[in-house]
Amino acid sequence: MQATKKYRKSARPGGLVGLDWRSAREQLLAAIDPAQRSAVAALLAQRSGGGAGLRMWLRVLVSQSRALPEALPSGLVAIYLDDPEAVPLHDCAHCGLAVPVRPNRFGYDGEPERVYFPECPCCGARTGLYAYWSTPNELHLAAAAPPCADKA
Ligand SMILES: [Zn+2]
Repeated sequence: MQATKKYRKSARPGGLVGLDWRSAREQLLAAIDPAQRSAVAALLAQRSGGGAGLRMWLRVLVSQSRALPEALPSGLVAIYLDDPEAVPLHDCAHCGLAVPVRPNRFGYDGEPERVYFPECPCCGARTGLYAYWSTPNELHLAAAAPPCADKA
């Protein structure tokens, strides 16, 4: 019981400064193509079933201070809408954008069953497991939102 309390206390301070779940959700939805927005909002509102990857993506945004482009490629969002198993386990080495993969049947470790974006759909840099975190800071794009045009 005590370990649970400690975990809860330490989990929040590491989160994105000034951005709570609701604000992050609004920012994410605003960056999504209007044609996809209501489907994404409906999946985010679910507590179970479809949309686990989208909810995980939102959690990444809140907890890891990730910047989000003003406009996300519809092809990126479509993966979450089309593949209920897609989760944002990979990220871009350069801009930090989280990108979805379909994990293998054993879980999140190891090679994913499917890598949708070996290159970032926003900046073109390589993606991978912890790619952003294993890249020296001087090679990261500035803290500003990553540039992105819809290339779908
Ligand atoms: Zn990128």
